Amino acid sequence: QKYVYDFTEGNRDLKDLLGGKGANLAEMTNLGLPVPPGFTITTEACKEYLAGGEEPAALRDEVSAHLDALEAAMGKKLGQADDPLLVSVRSGAKFSMPGMMDTVLNIGLSDKSVQGLAKQSGDDRFAWDSYRRLIQMFGKTVLGVDGELFEDALEKAKTAKKVTVDTDLDAADLKKLVTRFKKIVKTEAGRDFPQDPREQMDLAVRAVFDSWNTDRAKLYRRQERIPGDLGTAVNVCSMVFGNLGPDSGTGVAFTRDPASGHQGVYGDYLQNAQGEDVVAGIRNTVPLAELESIDKNSYDQLMQIMETLETHYKDLCDIEFTIERGQLWMLQTRVGKRTAGAAFRIATQLVDQGLIGEAEALQRVNGAQLAQLMFPRFDDEGANDGKGPELLGRGIAASPGAAVGKAVFDSYTAVKWSRSGEKVILIRRETNPDDLDGMIAAEGILTSRGGKTSHAAVVARGMGKTCVCGAEDLEVDTKRRRMTVGGRVVEEGDVVSIDGSTGKVYLGEVPVVPSPVVEYFEGRMHAGADEADELVGAVHRIMAYADRVRRLRVRANADNAEDALRARRFGAQGIGLCRTEHMFLGERREMVEKLILADTDEERETALSQLLPLQKTDFVELFEAMDGLPVTVRLLDPPLHEFLPDITELSVRVALAESRKDSNENDLRLLQAVHRLHEQNPMLGLRGVRLGLVIPGLFTMQVRAIAEAAAERKAAKGDPRAEIMIPLVGTVQELEIVRDEAEQVIAEVEASTGVKLKLALGTMIELPRAALTAGQIAEAAEFFSFGTNDLTQTVWGFSRDDVEASFFTAYLEKGIFGVSPFETIDKDGVGSLVRNAVRDGRATRPDLKLGVCGEHGGDPESVHFFHEVGLDYVSCSPFRIPVARLEAGRAAA
Ligand code: PEP
Ligand code: MG
Repeated sequence: QKYVYDFTEGNRDLKDLLGGKGANLAEMTNLGLPVPPGFTITTEACKEYLAGGEEPAALRDEVSAHLDALEAAMGKKLGQADDPLLVSVRSGAKFSMPGMMDTVLNIGLSDKSVQGLAKQSGDDRFAWDSYRRLIQMFGKTVLGVDGELFEDALEKAKTAKKVTVDTDLDAADLKKLVTRFKKIVKTEAGRDFPQDPREQMDLAVRAVFDSWNTDRAKLYRRQERIPGDLGTAVNVCSMVFGNLGPDSGTGVAFTRDPASGHQGVYGDYLQNAQGEDVVAGIRNTVPLAELESIDKNSYDQLMQIMETLETHYKDLCDIEFTIERGQLWMLQTRVGKRTAGAAFRIATQLVDQGLIGEAEALQRVNGAQLAQLMFPRFDDEGANDGKGPELLGRGIAASPGAAVGKAVFDSYTAVKWSRSGEKVILIRRETNPDDLDGMIAAEGILTSRGGKTSHAAVVARGMGKTCVCGAEDLEVDTKRRRMTVGGRVVEEGDVVSIDGSTGKVYLGEVPVVPSPVVEYFEGRMHAGADEADELVGAVHRIMAYADRVRRLRVRANADNAEDALRARRFGAQGIGLCRTEHMFLGERREMVEKLILADTDEERETALSQLLPLQKTDFVELFEAMDGLPVTVRLLDPPLHEFLPDITELSVRVALAESRKDSNENDLRLLQAVHRLHEQNPMLGLRGVRLGLVIPGLFTMQVRAIAEAAAERKAAKGDPRAEIMIPLVGTVQELEIVRDEAEQVIAEVEASTGVKLKLALGTMIELPRAALTAGQIAEAAEFFSFGTNDLTQTVWGFSRDDVEASFFTAYLEKGIFGVSPFETIDKDGVGSLVRNAVRDGRATRPDLKLGVCGEHGGDPESVHFFHEVGLDYVSCSPFRIPVARLEAGRAAA
C-alpha cells in the first residue's frame, strides 16, 4: 500500500486515488509544464483515517521520505530559519466540491522563519503578511477558531490606522497583528500556534481529512449525488508567490470561452496578488489579454501551455496560475465547466479540429443540457430589486419552461380569456381531468398541492407546458378567485410568472427568451451564421451522430394528431402510448357517464354506439398523422369514477336540492353511481383490464373503432400500423379473455370491410405479478410495454399521486435516494423486475417486441438502463424525444 505519490508519479487517470486536483497536477508535471514540486496523499489514507480515527501507521514515514525529496529538490528545508521552504496543503477530491473543504497556505512560517523569508524576499511587509495569513487560515480551519475574530482584529488594525485596504498596512502593523492573532489562537484554541513546521503540516493534513465529513460537505455531496465514501486526497505543494511586487501576479484562464466555446484569450489577471485576493475582490482584475503588455514572456508561455493542454486533454480546460517575479507557475488545471450551449458547440468544434471523433463528441454533451436548451428561459436578473417582478415563493419544478400570464383560478375562465387573446396561468389547488381544457388554454400551470407525478405535472409535461406544482405557501381560494402568499393577495387578472425549471413563482412579468433549438426541431429555423444559428448547427450535427449509432428506437406518448405530428417533427418513430381516456373529456365525458349509469343493455348499447364513431375519427386522424409508423393504442385504463362528478360536490348539490324540495332524478342516480363506484384505493381498484372484463362492450367498442379506422386508412391507401394494448394485466388469463374478444371483433371488421388487417395485440407490464409471470403472459402478447409509473408505484408501495408532495423531500434530504424513483428508474428494484421480464418474455416468444412508456422513457439515466437491458424502444412525451434520441445514441456510442 502506497499512500503518497510525488507529482512526477501520478497521472490524470488516477483521480480515484489522487483526487482531481492531484491527478491533474501530476499530469501537467509529466507534460513538462512548470508546476511547483509537491506530492499527493491518497484518498486511501483519508479513508483509513476516517474509518479508524488515526492516520495509517506507514503514512508518517512515507510523508517524511517525500518531504526529504522535495526539500532536496528545492534546496531548502520546510520552515528553515534563514530561507524557509513553504508549502500549501490543499484538499482535492475525485469530484470538485468548490469551497467545501479546507486549504492552508504558507505552512512552514514561524516566529523564526518569518525573518528568513523577509531577508530572502527582501520584503518585510510580504513576509509578515504571509505569516499573518497562515495563523488566520490555520487558526480557523485546523484549530477551529471562529474566523470572525481574525477578521475583526484586521478591521480594527485598519481603523486604527485610518486606512481601508489591507495593502495599506505596513510591516510593523502586520507584525502587531501577528501578535494579536497568536493571542486569539491561544485563548480560543487553548494552545499556542505551533512553531514546528512539521507539526503544522501534519495537523493541516488531518484537518483536510476531517473536512470531508463536515455537515456542509455532506449536504453538498447528497445534493450533487457524490458518494460519501470516496474520501479526499491532500496535495502538499511548494508555495509560489504572486504578491512579491509588480512583476508577480495571479490569474485564471480558460482555453476557450466557457459560454460560447469560441477560441481566444479568456481569463482574468491580478498583478501583485495571491489567489484569495482575486476571490476577495480587493482590487479589480484586468482581462487576461492585458498580461501581454505587462509581462510578454509569461504571456507567450501561458498561451503555449494552454494550447498544449487543449490538445492533450482534447477539451476545454480551466487553469489557475501564478507569476512569481517573472516566472510562470501552473497551480491547477481541469476540464472546465461550461454552459449547455457551449458544450454542444465545443464538441463539434473539437470534431472539426480533428481532436475527437463523433462517438467521443456524444459523450461531451448530455440530455439534461439539451433539455435545458429547449426551454424558453426567464431573464430574471433584477427580480426582487424592488423595481421588477417580485419573487412570491417556490414550488416543485414539475415541467420546465418559463411562462407569464394573468392569474386565473378555474378552467372555464382560462379558456374564455385565452380565446379573447389573453395569456393566462391556470392556478389550482390541484388539477383533475376536468381541467384539461384550461390547461391546454393556459401558458402554464401552478398548483399548491401535488408532486412531480401529480395530474398537473404529468399532463403538463406531456403537453410540454410549464408547470410548478406543490407550491405549499400559496393559499389558493378558487371561490374568491385569488390566492394569498404570506400576507400578499394575488387577484384574478394579476400577472404572474412561473419558472418550471426552478419552481420559482413571481408576481409581475419576467421577460422570456424563446429557445432557438425548439424552433429548429419544429422546422422553423435552419443552421446558419449568427450566434443562435451556430448553436442550432451544433445541435443538428450531434443529433445526427446520435441517430446514426443508437439501437433504441424512440416513440412518443401522444393522444391526438397535433401531438403526433409534433412528435414526428421531433424525430419520433411511432407512438408508444396513446391513452384513450384522454379522448373522453369535455362533451364526451357525459357519454361515458351515460354508459356508467346505464341500467339496461339497451341503454348501454346506445351509449357505446354514440362513442364508437367519435373514437373511430380519433384513430383515423392519429393513424394518418403517423402513417407508416407504429401506433400503440391503449384501451381504457383509469377508474370509471374519474368520469363522474366529485362525490363531495355532488352530495352537497343533492342535499341542497333536497332541502329546497326540488331534487332532480338524474342527480340522484348519479350520486348512487358515484357511491357505488367509490373506492378507497382507486389505483388498485376497478381500472385497466378489469374494466374490460366487467363492463360489457367497452373494450370491444374500442377495438372495433381501432379496426374500422385502420380499415378506412387502408382503403384510402394509407399505411396504418395499429397495435392494441391492454393495461394493468396481472395474469395471462385476463389477457386471454380480452384477446379472444378482440380477435373476434377484428375478424368481423375484416369481413364487413373486406380489408385484411394486421393488428398486433399486446399488454402493459405494470404490475409486479405481470413482471414475475412475464413468461406466461408472453404466450398471449405480441408485445410488452413496461408501464414503469404503475410498476414503481406498486413495487415500492408509493402512491404516485401523493408521495412526492408528502415525504419525498425528507427521503431526499436523508439521502435514502438521490432522485425520485418516479423520475429515474430504480435499477435495483423495479429495474430488476424489468430485466427478468425481458428475459422471460423473450424466452417464450423470441420476437416479442419490447418497449417502455412510463415517464422514465424520457429520462436520460433510465434510457441508458433500457438500452442495456435490451428493450427495442422507449416512448416519452413529444418534447422529450430529442433528449431520448440523444441519450440512446450516447448509450450506444
Ligand atoms: C405507466 O403506468 O407507466 C403508464 C405508462 O401508464 P399510466 O401512466 O397511464 O398509468
Ligand atoms: Mg399505468
